[in-house]
Amino acid sequence: MVSSEECMKMESTYGAHNYHPIPVVISRAEGLYVWDPEGKRYMDMLSCYSALNQGHRNPKIIKAAIDQMEKLTLTSRAFYNDQLGPFLKKITEISDMEMALPMNTGAEAVETGIKLARRWAYRKKGVPADKAEIIVCEDNFHGRTTTIAGFSSDPDTYDDFGPFTPGFKAVPYGDAEALEAAITPNTAAFIVEPIQGEAGVVVPPAGYLKEVREICTRHNVLMIADEIQTGLCRTGKMFCFQHDDIKPDVVFLAKALGGGIMPISVVLSSKEIMSVFTPGSHGSTFGGNPLACAVAMASLDVLIDEKLDVRAQEMGGYFMQELENLNSPLIKLVRGKGLLIAIELTPEAGPARKYTEGLMKNGLLAKETHSTIIRFAPSLLITKEQVDDAIVIIKGVFV
Ligand SMILES: *Cc1c(COP(=O)(O)O)cnc(C)c1O
Repeated sequence: MVSSEECMKMESTYGAHNYHPIPVVISRAEGLYVWDPEGKRYMDMLSCYSALNQGHRNPKIIKAAIDQMEKLTLTSRAFYNDQLGPFLKKITEISDMEMALPMNTGAEAVETGIKLARRWAYRKKGVPADKAEIIVCEDNFHGRTTTIAGFSSDPDTYDDFGPFTPGFKAVPYGDAEALEAAITPNTAAFIVEPIQGEAGVVVPPAGYLKEVREICTRHNVLMIADEIQTGLCRTGKMFCFQHDDIKPDVVFLAKALGGGIMPISVVLSSKEIMSVFTPGSHGSTFGGNPLACAVAMASLDVLIDEKLDVRAQEMGGYFMQELENLNSPLIKLVRGKGLLIAIELTPEAGPARKYTEGLMKNGLLAKETHSTIIRFAPSLLITKEQVDDAIVIIKGVFV
């Protein structure tokens, strides 16, 4: 066995320092729990930024992966495979969208959506060549490619990575009027997170998404919802935009679509919009591979069969209430939806890192975002007893 200390030392000696991990090494996991090499158990309250909505090593998803690995894993899109069609049918039915384009990571889905919106602007909306504009939100998080980093408002994300792709502008999140004022005849799309996860679980004002939908329709601008973190039952609905009874023109999914096993992402849209992609105009070596498709179908089955939307709503409401009941002088506020929850610390509390390390020592893993916010996003299969266990640990650190 390699000890935790040795693992951490090797990562920091031989790996680029593009992360600042909590000092814990994970060598085994099941459901809500993970263990370090020395055998200490922790509750995982980060769930790989919501890529583990179905919990670690969900048996139904593991079985689907193993079964598929014994038959076929990779073909390329130069040929058809027997898993992609059924997967596309399933994900489009679940989302009530007509067509899907499979990629691997979230950032690739976002890049695909940008290409889709631009081509749609030139070929359907009639925007003059190379003039298409895309509006994004301040404090967005959509991934790490150079184009995406270029429209981030976080210096950590963009500093010294330019020059960047032109054609983007940012408006304040939650401000529908600012969006409408920023639209020009050349605007192709507005990309929005239904809740800003990385920004610290920022929930927009009630009615925001509905207004955004109306504005986009009025100006013939594509409304694109990045549901990579908020989708797939995390916030108490299959998709977070369903809380507002609206339907975007384009939706991104990734993270939990891979059930904690395989990276798989999709861009969902209508036949009309998706038709701007023609053979050779876009693709991915691994996108739509049969192993990822089989895993994604099982991941979706778990969400639906176990009614994880309802459970996220119930357990999330209970968890938030219990956090509020702590009445900790260190906690300024509790916010979120479903099981996407954050606490914001008071200025007097000092850096959040001190508390996430304290939680770790007591057996609960959570990560700070910025320096004053801690996110709690456990497996959606969490039970009431496990929420109670978590609250005891959190209370030990904050009360
Ligand atoms: C994680 C995330 C992404 C990027 O996904 P990767 O798989 O890390 O590229 C994009 N958008 C949102 C909202 C995310 O949370």
